[in-house]
Amino acid sequence: MAEKFDLIVIGGGPGGYVAAIRAAQLGLKTACVDNFVGKDGKASPGGTCLNVGCIPSKALLDSSKHFHHLQHDYAAHGISVKGAAMDVPTMIGRKDEVVKKLTGGVAQLFKANMITFYHGTGRLGAERSVSVTPGEGGDTVELQADNVILASGSVPIMIPNVEFDGEYIVDNVGALDFAQVPKTLGVIGAGVIGLELGSVWKRLGAEVVLLEALPDFLAMADREIAKHAEREFRKQGLDIRLATKVMSAGVKSAKGGKKKVEVTIENADGETKLSFDRLLVSVGRKAHTENLLAEDAGVRLTERGQIDVDEYSRTSAPGVWAVGDCVRGPMLAHKASEEGIAVAELIAGKPAHIHFDTVPWVVYTDPEIAWVGKTEAELKEAGVEFHSGTFPFAINGRALTGGQGPGLVKMLADAESDAILGVHIFGPNASELIAECVVAMEFQGSSEDLARIVHAHPTLSEAVHEAALHVDRRAIHRGN
Ligand code: FAD
Ligand code: AMP
Repeated sequence: MAEKFDLIVIGGGPGGYVAAIRAAQLGLKTACVDNFVGKDGKASPGGTCLNVGCIPSKALLDSSKHFHHLQHDYAAHGISVKGAAMDVPTMIGRKDEVVKKLTGGVAQLFKANMITFYHGTGRLGAERSVSVTPGEGGDTVELQADNVILASGSVPIMIPNVEFDGEYIVDNVGALDFAQVPKTLGVIGAGVIGLELGSVWKRLGAEVVLLEALPDFLAMADREIAKHAEREFRKQGLDIRLATKVMSAGVKSAKGGKKKVEVTIENADGETKLSFDRLLVSVGRKAHTENLLAEDAGVRLTERGQIDVDEYSRTSAPGVWAVGDCVRGPMLAHKASEEGIAVAELIAGKPAHIHFDTVPWVVYTDPEIAWVGKTEAELKEAGVEFHSGTFPFAINGRALTGGQGPGLVKMLADAESDAILGVHIFGPNASELIAECVVAMEFQGSSEDLARIVHAHPTLSEAVHEAALHVDRRAIHRGN
């Protein structure tokens, strides 16, 4: 007979494992099914985020940032280092250790919370039945639950005529594991992943060309912030080609038995061919629903192939919920986790609800880009009257002591009520600075509220404070 649970979660990424832990905390008999296989060939809960996404990319961004600073910035501090070299396998090994520690941590949390973990592929059938095909082989396990959460995440989108092979033409998985620095790296898509992984290999010495179909750089960011970021990244040597569409790509044999990736692009100059040692395809991700739903599961998909959910994450099948990258909304780990917590609480009979308007976005370039709320263009389009305040990091004391010059904080507040409608940061530690702005917006704070809060000196957060003051044209350390 099928083992019975209060809740079965399919997917062990930040949406699924967090939902499972919260449900167990609330006293639900919980199982989590995840099929990810780690580099050691074993189960590795944590999903894309911990295994091949957020965490490994940040580990490599941190390593490569050290190397870059060593070569370009330490001399100004009077520090000279001769013969600095990057040992790529050591860097990759360190990244793998970080991943292992965190995925091992998830497995331990499952144990500590008495969550039953199944390593295998879960398939939802009728009436919340779930069959698990074990990752290690063996018989299918039949389970049954009062509630099921689908948290199957996403997979990279591939473009037609680009012959992905995982070695020369790679996705995020391959670009996190190059054995050596490619001399030339082409990146299709100058989105978040393309910029982050492109930056890693650029800092380590690769010639990086970003090929972006759209005419605007980082189209979803505030235009002013994107303009500053584009200028800075070009200065760092990233070759960003906008309005350039990749039409096809394939691996070709070159002189001396070497292989090269040949890419055909189309832009205002017509069709051209480019050649790279490696090519990263980072043109976005799509919901992962393959092998997830039996025909009688009763779960409806949207036209875009996402699992169709309402604002409470309920699917079309009673007692079946879905969270994270496999449903609508931004593909961000923290969004997935908050949805997971909310659903676990709803299942346990508690009130829960997420404010999607205050989900922060971060791009972990150097400097970082972070924002929350509306952009200036979105406010203009909606006909909302607003005031804007800015403050550049170039005149922030703490940024100067750290040699972290470029960038700015930009705050947008309602012209009448002064409620903060959006904050956009391009600058050092933007990922951390944005948290204060998220809190302020979540509490429906005004720029006046932030202007009256004491900020420690000297800190980067003073730039947020000054931008808030500048909304009312009373910034102290800049002209108004
Ligand atoms: P996932 O993390 O994708 O987890 C889903 C899990 O379910 C996977 O383990 C999958 O193998 C498993 N699964 C799927 N189907 C089944 C099935 N039928 N049975 C069993 N298991 C199944 N987001 C951020 O917020 N910050 C970042 O810095 C960031 N950096 C990123 C960098 C990269 C390179 C990438 C690729 C993504 C990054 N993201 C980042 C996005 C983030 O990884 C995702 O938003 C997040 O992982 C979504 O979580 P999830 O739980 O919905 O899905
Ligand atoms: P993101 O979703 O943030 O990872 O961004 C993916 C980026 O890839 C978007 O900015 C797309 O415009 C871009 N893109 C999609 N298809 C192509 C293509 N064929 N050539 C170049 N860029 C593309």
